Amino acid sequence: MEEIIVTAEGRLSATALEHSARPRNYGPLSPFNAHARITGPCGDTVEFWLWIKDGRVAKIGFTTDGCEPSRAAGSMAAELALGKRPAEVALIEQADVLAALGGLPKGSEHCSLLASNTLKAAAKDFADRQVEQPRDCRSCEQSDCQAHKQRQDESDEEFRQRQNLGRKMCQIGQKLLIMSGKGGVGKSTVAANLAVSLALAGKSVGLLDVDIHGPSIPRLMGLEGEQLVMHESEIVPIEVGGNLKVMSIGFLLGSPEDAVIWRGPMKYGVIRQFLSEVEWGPLDFLIIDAPPGTGDEPLSVAQLVGDGAGAVLVTTPQELSVADVRRSVSFCRKLSLPVVGIVENMSGLVCPHCNGRIEVFKTGGGEELAREMKVPMLGRIPIDPKIVECGDSGVPYIHKFADSDAAKAFAGVVERILENSSKKTDGN
Ligand code: ADP
Repeated sequence: MEEIIVTAEGRLSATALEHSARPRNYGPLSPFNAHARITGPCGDTVEFWLWIKDGRVAKIGFTTDGCEPSRAAGSMAAELALGKRPAEVALIEQADVLAALGGLPKGSEHCSLLASNTLKAAAKDFADRQVEQPRDCRSCEQSDCQAHKQRQDESDEEFRQRQNLGRKMCQIGQKLLIMSGKGGVGKSTVAANLAVSLALAGKSVGLLDVDIHGPSIPRLMGLEGEQLVMHESEIVPIEVGGNLKVMSIGFLLGSPEDAVIWRGPMKYGVIRQFLSEVEWGPLDFLIIDAPPGTGDEPLSVAQLVGDGAGAVLVTTPQELSVADVRRSVSFCRKLSLPVVGIVENMSGLVCPHCNGRIEVFKTGGGEELAREMKVPMLGRIPIDPKIVECGDSGVPYIHKFADSDAAKAFAGVVERILENSSKKTDGN
């Protein structure tokens, strides 16, 4: 007989307690090729992401906003699905989850039904992706088909956007998400200068600004006030020079304050629409200025962008910012998003008189972190007041001051990115 322990949720078996305290495979997964999210009648939501490779579930992630039994049931369902074929996953029943957990309190048994139903819906989603079915799921006669319900939840517009996004993203060689733990560390400055550097190196580059709280790419690139141009219901990016295309969510906002009043789902919708509607054409690189932090917004961007993406994490040398980046590395690992490397920005000051380097803040924080987290260090960009001047006047710094120390540091970062562009560097 398994030991029974009393918790706030009722009596949980030792196995259930163990799974609720330390749920296996917890957190979203990227890339994934099957997904489902269901909210049960109790109001709890369970979400599964599956990565099916060589016909079996190679990786699985789940989340729930529910109680301890929900976590235990989701964790156990995920464990049962690992290594199975999608058709076998679809056969995992509530009774299997309950049996593996050693039972759940009577009032919480529905949690195991929610977990198994969501898992079945994810398996169905995988099948649907293999054969593009009509989205009204007409062929399905089962009244309890979760995939059917999910398809009903997805509007025609959302379905079209999902298809569009997939088509666009597969034309892009490498997608680099420029991320930071918080705002103000120079993420947009790094994104803009990287994009310009890669374009100068002869690559065809897109620069996409989805930093919904502070889209600064229009200002940095001298494109403030530009109007969006549509062509056959697609947004045409603004061409800068021969091989750089720029698009910013800032072009959509009447004023920068507009984003502040958007609620979470609206932000997600805007980001998704934006990503799926821009007509990039084939590109070597898409540089994405992502929203800062490790919340829902960068998460949505990382998930929507999908396969072939890597993260460049921007930090400043101080301990506080470095701690933020540590969180960003963990965030990327949870999403299986490879970390291309860390850029330490505002790293020392080059004296305009003697050209010596003055270490204004504690230095080397980014390097220490790169060593500790086993991710590559891409470079250290010094503070240069001309970067601010250029940013404010809309002239890409590395264009104007190509011989400066900071421009040389940017060039080093680009070199490392080009070296790394064809291989995963984080080993995750
Ligand atoms: P974020 O995107 O992280 O919010 P920004 O790229 O907008 O940050 O940069 C914030 C401010 O810092 C801008 O005024 C920018 O010009 C300035 N800045 C960024 N990097 C440097 C640097 N290396 N030297 C001097 N100023 C910098």
